[in-house]
Amino acid sequence: MSPLAKSPNFPPPDRKHYNAATPPDAVENFNAFIIDHVSTGTALAIAKSNWALSFGQRPFVAHGVMCGITFTYGGLRTDDAAHVLNEEGLVMPGLWAVGEMAGGFFAFNYPGGSGLTKGAVSGKIAGEAAAQRAKTVRG
Ligand SMILES: Cc1cc2nc3c(=O)[nH]c(=O)nc-3n(C[C@H](O)[C@H](O)[C@H](O)COP(=O)(O)OP(=O)(O)OC[C@H]3O[C@@H](n4cnc5c(N)ncnc54)[C@H](O)[C@@H]3O)c2cc1C
Repeated sequence: MSPLAKSPNFPPPDRKHYNAATPPDAVENFNAFIIDHVSTGTALAIAKSNWALSFGQRPFVAHGVMCGITFTYGGLRTDDAAHVLNEEGLVMPGLWAVGEMAGGFFAFNYPGGSGLTKGAVSGKIAGEAAAQRAKTVRG
């Protein structure tokens, strides 16, 4: 038995059970470029819901994976100048929110690279406005 198969991080189902759960037409329907729905379905306690090809010949390589939150899609309400708005939609003087702190920017998805762009653009706008205000308040 390989070290991978003996690892406590590689629990059942084992390869035999997993392979038996893959659909017979998996190879024909497999498409790495889309959510292909080639799935083990209900045959396993936790389905492999896409790209469920069977394991072939050894050797196998395992990669650790983990979840991450790219965006919450939430955050404080702001206007185009990055001012934070109150519950009545009015500007709260001297308060800006940018990047992840500012909500209502994306709907249900986002174009690649737009998170950092949003942060950089709104950060420049808010930073310049805050610096200007600081001069005024002090001056
Ligand atoms: C896995 C992953 C992949 C991503 N891939 C992309 C991508 O490919 N392209 C893209 O454009 N965007 C991507 N994003 C989104 C992008 O990373 C964020 O939109 C962006 O980093 C937000 O910038 P920000 O400055 O608003 O917040 P953050 O980058 O979260 O910065 C906030 C900073 O504040 C610090 N901080 C928090 N609390 C305090 C405190 N009390 N005192 C002092 N400091 C504090 C934190 O340590 C952190 O450094 C990805 C995000 C994730 C999680």
